[in-house]
Amino acid sequence: MAVAPVSTFRESKVPRHIVCLTFDFDTQSGFIARGMTTPTPLSRGEFGLVGAPRILALLKAFGLRATWFVPGFTIESHPDACEAVVEGGHEVAHHSWAHIPPAQQTRTEEEADLIRANEAIARLTGCKARGYRSPSWDLSENTIELLLAHGFRYDSSLMGADYWPYRARRGDQAELGKPFRFGEQTSLIEMPISWSLDDYPHFEFVRTATTVLPGLQPARAVMASWRDEFRYMQKTVDWGVLTYTMHPYVIGRGYRMLAFEELVTELLAAGAVFMTMEDAAREASERMFTG
Ligand SMILES: [Zn+2]
Repeated sequence: MAVAPVSTFRESKVPRHIVCLTFDFDTQSGFIARGMTTPTPLSRGEFGLVGAPRILALLKAFGLRATWFVPGFTIESHPDACEAVVEGGHEVAHHSWAHIPPAQQTRTEEEADLIRANEAIARLTGCKARGYRSPSWDLSENTIELLLAHGFRYDSSLMGADYWPYRARRGDQAELGKPFRFGEQTSLIEMPISWSLDDYPHFEFVRTATTVLPGLQPARAVMASWRDEFRYMQKTVDWGVLTYTMHPYVIGRGYRMLAFEELVTELLAAGAVFMTMEDAAREASERMFTG
């Protein structure tokens, strides 16, 4: 069945504009997954342990709950920092164990990592994750099916929409020289994301043997673009969800925290409804399936 991922929501009488603040608590995992195990890259990930308490204090001051995508690596390496996230009342969601993108794994490897990380989350929070975000936003052809098999409610790794969640599909067909074919819609809710709403490419300077990611953009300029995304959502849809993606070792730098605090203040004044991604996905699901 060819179904384009367009909004299928009922028009609501009362506008409701939801914001999900999401934090990928990678610490050193992403560097280790890329083979960057010398002291300085590792310390760059370690800075997440400085950033996280700053973020938790800010969220507490505003009375907001957020969603933390925490690799099993971080749970087992830095248990106290992860306990603090749980104590803050935030959602802990799945972000793999070792931060290896599923697109680089066999199905067996992917499922083993999925289970290992979910066990770590269950030990930390008392229950398995309902939400998943893939490392480096690169799903394999097996991921959606594995998430359904392991009881997940939502994924947050795809970019097919901006202000409305949609049903994740399996079996899309993309072949060179042939028209694209949409696969079958599943019950998994996709909470879409975008690199433009991720702190990492805006701020991080990364130099490897083959590439340079310049980053280091002025924090207030980035936050102005992020605020404009919310304004455009308000202008164009009556109901929507906007997701910001951040990393404690990135947004946790002082001048970025100041700009981020200003953004949150402005969004609250503009009427944003802040929710965990789990709650937003549930609301989206109710609208999609009972409308
Ligand atoms: Zn990550």
